[in-house]
Amino acid sequence: MLINPDKCVACANCVPVCPMGAIYVDPAVNRATINQDECVECGACFRGMSQEHLNPTMVRTVRALAKFFRFRFEPEPDVCPTAAFEMNELAMPRLIRRVFSDPVVEHKSTGIKGRGTEEVKTNDVNPRVGIGEVGYTIEFGRPGVGVRFRDIQEMTRALAKLDIVFEAKNPISHLMTDKSSGTLRADILDEKILSGIVEIRSALDRVEAVCETVSAVNERIDTVTAVGISTRCGEQGEDKSLAPLLADLGFAYERAKTNMGIGRVTNTQQKEAA
Ligand code: SF4
Ligand code: SF4
Repeated sequence: MLINPDKCVACANCVPVCPMGAIYVDPAVNRATINQDECVECGACFRGMSQEHLNPTMVRTVRALAKFFRFRFEPEPDVCPTAAFEMNELAMPRLIRRVFSDPVVEHKSTGIKGRGTEEVKTNDVNPRVGIGEVGYTIEFGRPGVGVRFRDIQEMTRALAKLDIVFEAKNPISHLMTDKSSGTLRADILDEKILSGIVEIRSALDRVEAVCETVSAVNERIDTVTAVGISTRCGEQGEDKSLAPLLADLGFAYERAKTNMGIGRVTNTQQKEAA
């Protein structure tokens, strides 16, 4: 993302819009400026503000006069008065920032926008986590924090040693050059994104090791992580394996979501109707 310095009038309306705090008004040039290292190319500034097309020279003159006469001329707070934002063409590796952070961009590897994965929301029709298996979503970053791929790799490399399987339909798995070691493409490691999700599955007896590993790596990486854990319930909706195991390990366990198998029934009906 760029701000055209010929258009910007330094009104600072865009500063609070950026979820990464990457925009600031540089007093040396009296223009809004983007810290390109922190910008994750999410597009919130470009799309989130109304763009007016006032003449920058006119706006600067009015603002200078207003300042001289001690009153203020400020545009509406959600407006860039001179349409100064420009969404520039990006190439790899920087393009990866936009792919993961801009919610309107689709991941080519999965056909899904945003973080690029359905997680286990469709497990009933697309069984990622099989009977007797445990699925995990390890989510990195938040607005204001973000995550670099180097930190994600720190986690994937540690997890790869635990006899786990990386989910195939996941965009971070697609960025691995070696799934057996959890190694990501070298050119993207310094790139920063708003958030990303690593998905793995394991046997039940690996749960303790996975939880311990995620906690340990979380301590040494420069971001925040959140873990979701799932399993297939029995026919009566009961979970006699994972829930007691997590309780034994000292994790507070809330059942957050149950997939009812409705999708499978619907698909069958659609097939019969065809
Ligand atoms: S809102 Fe537009 S004119 Fe105002 S500081 Fe930001 S880029 Fe410059
Ligand atoms: S593209 Fe997103 S991260 Fe970059 S400056 Fe705009 S709002 Fe901030």
